[in-house]
Amino acid sequence: MLDRARRWLFPSACVACDAPGPGLCASCAPSPREAIAFAIDSVPGFALGAYDGPLRDAIVAMKHGLRDPLDAFVALLDRAQLDAPLVPLPTTRRRAAERGFDQSVTIARRVAARRGIGVQELLVKRGAPQAGRDRRERRAATGRFAVRDDAPRPRAVTLFDDVCTTGATARDAIEALRRAGVGVRRLVVLARAGGTSAAARGSIPTQ
Ligand SMILES: [Zn+2]
Repeated sequence: MLDRARRWLFPSACVACDAPGPGLCASCAPSPREAIAFAIDSVPGFALGAYDGPLRDAIVAMKHGLRDPLDAFVALLDRAQLDAPLVPLPTTRRRAAERGFDQSVTIARRVAARRGIGVQELLVKRGAPQAGRDRRERRAATGRFAVRDDAPRPRAVTLFDDVCTTGATARDAIEALRRAGVGVRRLVVLARAGGTSAAARGSIPTQ
């Protein structure tokens, strides 16, 4: 009910060009050619595009609590190859509470439902959120994730996060999962900061 009232008062619009409709419209969303392939600890990574322009605007808006871009992201992630249950990289409880939702968890659940694969919230985050720390501190911080004791342990999973910057966070999660006997087959993110676009590298398989 509240959601419907909010929709009526503030209809969904593209965060970049204000066109009514999805939170990131088809013209502002990254094209399939902008996808980025990378690797973190020999785990192949996939990003919809570089952390820049409208994609960045949409992610930042979502981090500030705007849900509109979620629908667009869920649909765009049809481009990512997914062949193992999704494990979202969670944010700290405090962060998620401030925002009203945990964007990586919410997107992972919806993508999993859409693609008919499982979602397993295996990871819990401990410690303070990253923002405000400098790059070196972020790199140095390890052991930020723990695997839930009570959860089933699949042999292989796909890790999902919103943005991959230095890769330190993903590496930490991969490490925690490996210690628990869970292999990470792929890392899928919305955006890669400081990566090279697929267009610049030739084509990459995304499906
Ligand atoms: Zn737009």
